[in-house]
Amino acid sequence: MFIGAIADDLTGATDLSLTLAREGIKVLQVVGVPAADLDFGDAEAVVVSLKSRTIPAQAAVDLSLASARMLHARGARQFLFKYCSTFDSTDHGNIGPVADALMDFLETDRTIACPAFPATGRTVYRGHLFVGDQLLSESSMKDHPLTPMRDANLVRVLGRQSRNAIGLVPRDVVAAGEVALKAALDAVCGIAIVDAIDDGDLRVIGRAARDLRLITGGSGIALGLPANFLPPGRARATAPLPVPPGRTVLLAGSCSTATRRQVASAIEAGVPALKLDAIAIAEGRIAVRHALDFILQGEGGLPPLIWSSADPQEVRLAQDRLGREHAGALVEAFLAELAGALVGEGFNRFIVAGGETSGAVVNRLGVAALEIGPEIDPGVPWTRARGTRIPLALALKSGNFGADDFFLKAWRMLP
Ligand code: ADP
Repeated sequence: MFIGAIADDLTGATDLSLTLAREGIKVLQVVGVPAADLDFGDAEAVVVSLKSRTIPAQAAVDLSLASARMLHARGARQFLFKYCSTFDSTDHGNIGPVADALMDFLETDRTIACPAFPATGRTVYRGHLFVGDQLLSESSMKDHPLTPMRDANLVRVLGRQSRNAIGLVPRDVVAAGEVALKAALDAVCGIAIVDAIDDGDLRVIGRAARDLRLITGGSGIALGLPANFLPPGRARATAPLPVPPGRTVLLAGSCSTATRRQVASAIEAGVPALKLDAIAIAEGRIAVRHALDFILQGEGGLPPLIWSSADPQEVRLAQDRLGREHAGALVEAFLAELAGALVGEGFNRFIVAGGETSGAVVNRLGVAALEIGPEIDPGVPWTRARGTRIPLALALKSGNFGADDFFLKAWRMLP
């Protein structure tokens, strides 16, 4: 195993797996801390997907360390800690505490932090994270239901979370090329935020970071890593996904602007749609049985959509009434339970929007691992589940990802 990766959510792990596979490395995505006897097959990179982005920091540390121990025992040569390209976290963590713990475990005193993902508009310049033309703190991420990002200066943000010294390697050092950058990385003590504004920068960083025991970042940071291990010219390692005939459902638990646009676009295209709201779930005014009936009564034309995606005002209202964590957990549990019931009804294609939401669904369905298939939109592949009762095709989308027509585009890609 060349690369052992630990991702703090499921859709982020899928995005990372896709990036690695496109660079030619054979990848297996594992759901949860890998069991000691899990067969990794011929995987050259193993990506462990946790659901550790928004849990208490110590729990995130424990899960990440358990995963790192397993990857270490199976011979991983380089470790990658993957988090969101919008650096989703709070002042309590979890990026800083997990990075600190992995550095201790791997006995290294230096690593880098680079969330840049230029293909989706996330760039880092002078240590500041941009989403398209906006600073992170002015983007819609300022209103995220679980991790509102109100500061774009990553040196400051990580400084509040980590006990390591936080430095900055600015773009001009990256632009000076691999040799200059490697010298700068060799001199790091602690964690260095590294600027990157395009894929060329990420490839230079990948080459310069070949000797780092631990790398941290978004999926973009993986762009330049496989080439350090593979012979040149390897073809991409994604596969077509034969799935048996079956029905599709669309589940949206993300409240991001991209997902809300995608929901509106699917409804406009005529999908049968049922809206959930957290307060109605809490008060028992809507139950999983209602949503299941709604879906089963559909005609089997366009796939049905069950969605809770709400604007910041509606989310705030629910959170004020129910508490932030409880509101999110209620919606996640509802959609996960619904997905479980749908498998019983022969649904085998799930298109899910939201990282936490996807994690809840996949845990409920008992997915042990995911094979990476064709790309739908940047960062989002179709995947095939391993370990489930029946073969399942899953498209798991990080909230912010995908074009407006994502849902039906993904649906139309399957035979
Ligand atoms: P993203 O990928 O956009 O971050 P996630 O699924 O990770 O999406 O996070 C969205 C969170 O918001 C989940 O915990 C979800 O349950 C919660 N949520 C979804 N809809 C609502 C709502 N209507 N009110 C309150 N919280 C909600």
